[in-house]
Amino acid sequence: MLLEVKDVGKAYATSEGHLQVLRGVSFAVDRAECVALTGESGSGKSTLLHLVGGLDRPDAGAVLFEGRDITKLGEAELAAYRRSSVGLVFQQFNLIPSLDVAANLAFQARLAGRHDAAWCAQLAERLGLSALLTRYPEQLSGGQQQRVAIGRALALKPPLILADEPTGNLDEATGDQVLDLMLALQAETGAALLMVTHSTRLAARLGRRLHLSAGRLA
Ligand code: ADP
Ligand code: MG
Repeated sequence: MLLEVKDVGKAYATSEGHLQVLRGVSFAVDRAECVALTGESGSGKSTLLHLVGGLDRPDAGAVLFEGRDITKLGEAELAAYRRSSVGLVFQQFNLIPSLDVAANLAFQARLAGRHDAAWCAQLAERLGLSALLTRYPEQLSGGQQQRVAIGRALALKPPLILADEPTGNLDEATGDQVLDLMLALQAETGAALLMVTHSTRLAARLGRRLHLSAGRLA
């Protein structure tokens, strides 16, 4: 197994008090597997994705990546995990505004010390970005920005891609094209994909579906 989430619990302290978001969540994702994560707004999908991506830590349970519990890592090791093992794609694209498309594409791979110019050029070509490499994010459409974000996530050929409603800010036709590209590149690179979506239509395009409700997986 690439990823094993075991009995994970997570609560937030809010102004209204203790909010238990996840209650004993367990699942596993195999190498190259595609899994959809669905659930109502506020059900904890983003929270779960953040825990798997090492952006936050659970209160209970374990998150094993390639057999190693990332919840036990120190800050520096956790940062290294985020940099080199996972590709993140968010709904809001999250590109770096001061960097052009080429530099955004290469950003994470450079940080991880794994920049591969030939692969970056190939990604740009596949994602239809070759003519846009010297543009800045503000000069791109939403669909173009999300293609850059997908390229950035894939540039270091991570074993795992985490995508949080990656097509949520795009119109349906553009969203479908962006998802097609992400799935094609995911299949080619052999990365596993865990994708949050509230669309049952999009969830049906992935291999398996996990549904989060009342803090548990159904
Ligand atoms: P989803 O992505 O399924 O919409 P989230 O994981 O974003 O759900 O949020 C789950 C619940 O936790 C929501 O009620 C949300 O308001 C709350 N929440 C999320 N992040 C925080 C936080 N940092 N502090 C307090 N409450 C939070
Ligand atoms: Mg969310």
